[in-house]
Formats: sequence, structure tokens, C-alpha cells
Amino acid sequence: MRPRLIAILAYLAAVLAIGVSVWWIALGAALGQLVERGHSDLRLASDRLVSELQSYRELAVLLAGHPSLVPLVTGGSGDTQDVQRMMLGVADMTGSLEILLLNRDGAVVAQSHGFSNPEPRNLSDTAYFKRATQAALGSMHWQFGDERQRAFTFAAPVFGMDRKPVGAVAVSVDLEQIESSWRAAPQVVFFTDEAGVVFISNRAEMLYRSRVPLEDLASRRSFPGDYDPSELRTFYEFDIGNRGGFEVWQQEASVYLPSRSLHVTQSLPLMNMVGEVLVDTSEAEQLALFQALVAGAIGLIFGAFMLFFAERRRGFLQRLSVEAQANARLEARVAERTAALQQAQQDLVQAGKLSALGQMSAGISHELNQPLMAIRSYAENAEELLRRGKEDVAGENLGRISDLARRMGRIIKNLRAFARQETEPLGRVELGHVIDAVIDLAGTRLREEHVAVSLDLPDGPVYVHGGEVRLQQVLVNLVSNALDAMEGREGKTLAISVVAGETVDVSVRDNGPGLSDPEKIFDPFYTTKEVGKSEGMGLGLSISYGIVQSFGGEIRGRNHPDGGAVVTVQLTPAAAMKDAA
Ligand code: ADP
Repeated sequence: MRPRLIAILAYLAAVLAIGVSVWWIALGAALGQLVERGHSDLRLASDRLVSELQSYRELAVLLAGHPSLVPLVTGGSGDTQDVQRMMLGVADMTGSLEILLLNRDGAVVAQSHGFSNPEPRNLSDTAYFKRATQAALGSMHWQFGDERQRAFTFAAPVFGMDRKPVGAVAVSVDLEQIESSWRAAPQVVFFTDEAGVVFISNRAEMLYRSRVPLEDLASRRSFPGDYDPSELRTFYEFDIGNRGGFEVWQQEASVYLPSRSLHVTQSLPLMNMVGEVLVDTSEAEQLALFQALVAGAIGLIFGAFMLFFAERRRGFLQRLSVEAQANARLEARVAERTAALQQAQQDLVQAGKLSALGQMSAGISHELNQPLMAIRSYAENAEELLRRGKEDVAGENLGRISDLARRMGRIIKNLRAFARQETEPLGRVELGHVIDAVIDLAGTRLREEHVAVSLDLPDGPVYVHGGEVRLQQVLVNLVSNALDAMEGREGKTLAISVVAGETVDVSVRDNGPGLSDPEKIFDPFYTTKEVGKSEGMGLGLSISYGIVQSFGGEIRGRNHPDGGAVVTVQLTPAAAMKDAA
């Protein structure tokens, strides 16, 4: 749970980081475009202002060269009325605020307006007059009337006969009149003077604003109202690499100005001012934010998909591991049960063998007793013969004794092998040997019950896959079942046949009453024999069934059409086993 939570948080952090970077890059790109727009807007506005003011400047220069002005400023004879009329005409035609003629001392000698009732004025203190007396073009911006009224004045020197300035012509322009023509522009354009105060702007709110503290300016000019210079401050600065940086300004003072805007400047040396423009950044910011949100949303959707698939995979793996655990438990149980079954089977096999031995014990003791008796009588005879000096006959007797002893040895060996409790390995077994041993073991009973035995075996050895002792046990069982079935009958015949082909089939046939229920004979505890008699546990055939199966073979019982039962054991040839292996 915890590492997953950490992974999810890390992913969210990555998405956030991507969103922020996308925002920053997009903002940079959008602001870069805005900067260019701002520059071109500002250039346009500046060009317009400069070209309009330029015409007044040229007007001042042109008027200063008028020949009828010199006599007036030099105190010579001239028609002041005439000059003033001319000045009024020019001012009206050019839309000038006022045209003045100043003499060498800065006193007004002629004026375009208010000449009917002139007040004596001296403008020798003005910057433009001082420049004009130095034979240069002067200019000045100033305020008059109510606080919104501003003027820009150009002064051109009037030269006397000696090419020295003798006075000046000052042409003033009402700036509000010029501004009014570009009020509708979407950008906030303004021009600040050398003191850093906004003097011209297409937004009234911007006028007289300054980033310079008021006190420093107070000595220079009186300002309308009071305002806080910090209202107009840099909000953030943005570096756009090789294109340089730019500033974004923020203000809350006016609803008519964008709250955040890009600030672009351009200096206008002709007017001794700096043109500035504020371009609203809200659109660019929204666009950047939108792009960042889209990037973030894509990241989140992608993350959700990943989480969904990871969850599904986890569920799947969990299910798999649960299934694997269940399987493992089941397999362990099966193995346990198989082991228990194998143990039970082994116990049964052993019990079956011992019970077979018990059944055969009478026959076995007879089997051993007979040669023993014969040995005894041969030995007594030999003694007698030796006494009589018939050594050759005695020698024959000794030879018979040794034959009989060998036969007894064989019987005992068979019995030992049969009774031994061990799980012999499966391997190659010669069927002829096994059948011989079975007939040996059952020999006494066969003879006593006068059973005719017919053997039908192929020439030469037949090898099958199995265990010798267990196969012997199966066949002993079949033979004794056959003998049981034929009990009390005439002409008992036991036929054992082997057919070797793809499989090796060993059949044991009798001429008894046959199987009353062939389907059931291999069921454990199925018996038709009386309980209590030494025989009849109903286990013989079911044990045999298990043994033959463990060889990879089959055992079947059926009734022969000519009467009697046939039980067939089908085995795998040992050669075929080798091929298969
Ligand atoms: P048991 O011999 O102890 O009864 P088996 O499993 O060897 O147990 O045999 C089960 C039953 O199969 C026998 O009781 C008998 O009814 C039947 N059976 C087996 N072999 C023969 C046979 N050759 N002829 C007739 N019935 C047989």
C-alpha cells in the first residue's frame, strides 16, 4: 500500500511539474509575441505623436524667419497689430494653442490670442526661451488651466541682421487635442518626461503618474490629487533569453487599466521623452494556463489509465497466486493421499501374500515332507547297500538324494522370495520362469486334486515389464481361484496360455462354473466363498488388479463360451518398454 501511495504522489508531483513547465514555456512564448506587438504599437503611436509635433516645430522655425518679426523684437518700427493678426490666422489654421513672439529679454511682444487686452508677460525663465537665445530649437511641456490641460511648446530663434538671435517664436500645442485622436486604442500608451512623470497618455488615469517618489517632484510642478507611486509597480520580470527581458506590471488602482500588463518602452529624443506601452497580458496568461491545464489533464488521464491497468494486473496476479496456493494445497493433499494409498496397497499386497502362503502351507509342508521322506529312505538304503558292498547302487542313491535336496532348495527359495516384504524394482521379467515357479508353488494341490494342466507358451523366452514376485503373486492367485472354482468337479483342467504380440496376454482358464458376476470380481471384499473358511476374503483379485496396474498392464475376467472362467493379464513387452523409454 505505502509504496503505491508514494508512486501515486510522485506521479502527481511529476504532473504538477510538467504543468508548471508547460505554463512557464507557454507564457514565455505568448509574452514574447506580446512584446513584439507592444513594440509595433508603441512605434506607431510614437511616430504619430512625433510627426504631429514635428509640424508645430517646423511652424515655429518657419514663422521665426518671417521678415516682419525682426523690427518688432528689435524695438524698431513694425505693425504689431498686423503681426498678431497673422499669428492668429496661422494658429487657427494649424490648430495651435498659442503663438508668441518674444524679444531678446523674454518679454512677449506679440501674441496670437488675447491681444485685445494683453497682460505684460516675461518668459525669460523658460527652458525653451533659453535654448532659443542660444540659437537652438527649444522645447518644453507644461501645464495650464485646469489640471488636465497640458501644452507642448517649441521655440525657434529669430535672427537679427548680424545672424544672432534677437528673440524667439514660441508655438504651443494643446496635447489633449492630440491625445483625443488615439483614445480608442486598446493599448495603454503614455509618454514620460525626463522626470519620469507621465505627461501624455491615451488614458486619463495614467496622467502625472510616476514611479519616482512625489516629494522629489513636488518642487518641480504641482500635481493634481494625491496618488501612491507604488500603485504602478513591477509585478514580475520575465527573461526571454536573447530577445532580452521584459517587465510585467501590476496595478489595482484603476479599472480602466489592465490589472497586469506587459511594459514596453521606446525613447523619443526629439521630445526628450520616453514612450511606453502597456499590453494587457490576461489573454496570454489565460492561454498559458489553459495549455498547462490541458497538459496536466492529459497527464492525469494517462496516470488514471496506468493506475487502472496496474490495479487490474495486481488483481489478476493476486488471483493467480491464490489459485496457485490452492493448487499447491490440493497437490499436497493428493500426494499425501497417494502415499497413504500406496502404503495401504503395499500392506494389502503383503497381507495377500501371507494369506496365500497360509492357504498353501499344507501343500508346502507336504511338498517338503515328500522329498524328505524319500531322502530318508534313500539314505537308509544306501547305508544297507554300502554294508553289503554294493557301492555303485549306493552311489546312485546318493545322487537321487542330492537331486531331491536341490528340489527342496528350489521350493524354499521360491517361498522365501514370495514371502519377502520388499518393493522390488520394476524391470524385465521372463514370463516362463514366473509360470514355472507358480506351477511349483501350486504343485501339491494340482496333483492332489487331479488337475490336468495344459500350458500353451510361445517358443523361447518372453520378457515383460513388471516385478517378478508380484507377477508370481498375481498368477498364484488366479490359479488358486481356478482350483477353488473347480472343486468337486470331474475332469478338472487348468489351461495357462501366453500370447505375445503388441502386448503379452497371460490367460488362466478353468472349466469350473464360471464367473457369476464378471463386473464385480475386482471389487475389494467381493467374494462368493464362504466366510470362515480359510479362503474367501474377497481381496485376491483386487490386490492383483492393483499390482497389474502398477506394471502399466490390465487384468480382465470373462466367461469362456465353452464354459468356465478366463482371467487374462495383459502386460507390456519389456522390449517395447525399452523403446518407449
Ligand atoms: P476370494 O478368492 O478370497 O473370494 P478373490 O478376489 O480372489 O477373492 O475372488 C473374488 C471372487 O471372484 C470369488 O469369490 C469368486 O466368486 C470370483 N472368482 C474368482 N475367480 C473365479 C473363477 N476362476 N471361477 C469362478 N469365480 C471366480
